[in-house]
Amino acid sequence: KSEFRGTFSFFEAEMDARAQSRRKIEIDLRGAIQNEGLRPHYQPLVDLTSGRITGFEALVRWPHPERGMISPGEFIPVAEETGLINPLGALMLRRACMDAAQWPDDVRVAVNLSPLQFRTGNLLALVTDALRQSGLPARRLELEITETLLLEKSSQVLATLHALRALGVRMSMDDFGTGYSSLSYLRSFPFDKIKIDQSFVRDLGANPDAQAIVRSIVSLGVGLGVTITAEGVETEAELSCLRAEGCHEGQGFLFSRARPNAEVISLLKAQRVATAA
Ligand code: C2E
Ligand code: MG
Ligand code: MG
Ligand code: MG
Repeated sequence: KSEFRGTFSFFEAEMDARAQSRRKIEIDLRGAIQNEGLRPHYQPLVDLTSGRITGFEALVRWPHPERGMISPGEFIPVAEETGLINPLGALMLRRACMDAAQWPDDVRVAVNLSPLQFRTGNLLALVTDALRQSGLPARRLELEITETLLLEKSSQVLATLHALRALGVRMSMDDFGTGYSSLSYLRSFPFDKIKIDQSFVRDLGANPDAQAIVRSIVSLGVGLGVTITAEGVETEAELSCLRAEGCHEGQGFLFSRARPNAEVISLLKAQRVATAA
């Protein structure tokens, strides 16, 4: 009996510690959003035929004063539970558009949206304002959403997606293949881009089935007239396999990690030298 009670309080203590650490993240995150202590870093998207950078994905970075860089995997879920994802997402969208407006005119920026941002009802105004204030043309903005957004099959969500696309913004489906019925979602909305989840790319060398899956996603993309981007490209072997399958675009540590905006221009210059050579 006492043994049982011991186990019970162990779990209780564990849960308490976890709740406290989430609470601490929430408080610090609220402060960081207010002081603009969060910022985007940018990871290149590379055209696999020409080798040129077509754009950059904005990924939120949080340099925490005590803990160093905290990974989005740790604080995005907290931001989503607490509603802080709305001011966070607004901040990222504004900053990404402002930064990208200073890049060359043929370079796009991709921004991740959380499903919660579609529930507040002001997403369309947020995007319109970010474009207007930065002067970034809509065609240079890509918005990445995941399948979870389309799970609920809400007509309000679909209406917002169509309105965003009518602005001239491009829509991407992120982490393709990890949801429950990825294919049916492609029928409900005309995406401009599909991003193959990195779990499929990771398996390319080792698992022959992974190559068959990549091949069919690429042919799906060609059939639908949609750009296919592979996420998480880490090795030359993965790259040559993706090229062989006709995948259009790649993103991953092989090309570059996400870098601060100050390094974007030098990444673009380095590429210009490489393609000229
Ligand atoms: P995501 O949108 O699928 O972004 C790609 C993630 O893969 C990024 O992780 C990126 O750093 C990582 N990655 C890129 N290349 C490689 C590679 O070659 N190998 C490996 N192992 N990883 C690679 P990150 O920055 O930690 O972000 C994780 C997730 O957090 C993102 O996944 C996205 O879902 C979310 N996130 C990041 N920034 C934002 C944001 O501003 N708003 C929202 N709503 N979500 C965001
Ligand atoms: Mg993404
Ligand atoms: Mg992804
Ligand atoms: Mg992801």
